[in-house]
Amino acid sequence: MFEPITIPANLLPTDGRFGSGPSKVRGEQLDALVAAQPLVLGTSHRQAPVKDLVGDVRSMLSTFFNVPDGYEVILGNGGSTMFWDAAAFSLVERKAQHAAFGEFGQKFAKATTAAPHLEASSVRTAEPGTVVLPEAEDGIDTYAWPHNETSTGAMVQVVRPPAIGDALTVVDGTSAAGGLFLEARQADVYYFAPQKSFASDGGIWFALISPAAIERIERIAASGRYIPESLSLATALTNSRVNQTLNTPAVATLVLMRAQLEWMLAGGGMDFVTYRTSQSARSVYEWAESRAWAEAFVTEPSNRSTVVATIGLADKVDSSLLRQHLRANGVVDVDPYRKLGRNQIRIGMYPAVDPEDVSALTRSIDYLVERLLT
Ligand SMILES: *Cc1c(COP(=O)(O)O)cnc(C)c1O
Repeated sequence: MFEPITIPANLLPTDGRFGSGPSKVRGEQLDALVAAQPLVLGTSHRQAPVKDLVGDVRSMLSTFFNVPDGYEVILGNGGSTMFWDAAAFSLVERKAQHAAFGEFGQKFAKATTAAPHLEASSVRTAEPGTVVLPEAEDGIDTYAWPHNETSTGAMVQVVRPPAIGDALTVVDGTSAAGGLFLEARQADVYYFAPQKSFASDGGIWFALISPAAIERIERIAASGRYIPESLSLATALTNSRVNQTLNTPAVATLVLMRAQLEWMLAGGGMDFVTYRTSQSARSVYEWAESRAWAEAFVTEPSNRSTVVATIGLADKVDSSLLRQHLRANGVVDVDPYRKLGRNQIRIGMYPAVDPEDVSALTRSIDYLVERLLT
């Protein structure tokens, strides 16, 4: 029978949610949800209150990312996974190149490779825990890579590869957006979902799109290619411009997201969030380095994500038993990515997570490991 070890209250984090997605939601966001009753929640998304909410989120995202002139913020239903299919229909002209160094990068590569109207994608891969970047190649019109690979905890910088001509750069910012530094002009399309750094719920995608991406979307839409309406980025663009979505959005998700953006912008925007996430990351990685039974999974320090840390454990420290004890103490979701199947923990350090709580988590783990190893 499992006998939980009780971690002393003074060691425990104030909030025990360290999931890599969905992530911790702050209490103030729930207050915003309560305040949205009855004037926003339960009202028509075709009327001003919800349209204004969508407009607020779009304009706060432009401010947060300091988007260059001509860029637009669009949204649609279905989350980042749906965006991959939408991109296969609406962004890739003939052939994409993907840099894939984990599950999420691979999934997008699979989506464009399977699309019957496209040539098989060129896929550059790297072992989990390392990274690979896109590189100029003949015949490629779209270069795609993740900013942060959530499955492994590896991040790269978003920089347009040299010598790619007028090809588009399409970057998955699902776990990076709102927690890592971004120079928006390096990506023609930077897409993400609200359930990670934006501490909201899943089911919607957002994208910052450049004038070149808008031109591509409109050209493909006019070309006669069959595009399901729910996956048409041209339709999403038209609707987004008037703060609408093709079909009903999750209004509560948008309320939670606006509240998180308000908090981020009031704190100082991108500098504020990146300071918080790098504080958290520093304490996790320094801790792992100083423990004989723990080590960062990503070997190259500059690629160690500051929003999702994967820590490998020595065999004698069983991750699943450790997590069982943590969960019994209210510390949840430090699970490794299921398909990696390694003896690891993975810690979500999105901006909503207090860096002090991340330190408390490491102290709580120390407390358990001392007892589990004797
Ligand atoms: C979570 C995640 C996704 C999937 O997002 P959904 O909104 O659940 O489809 C895609 N890419 C990355 C990098 C992610 O972290």
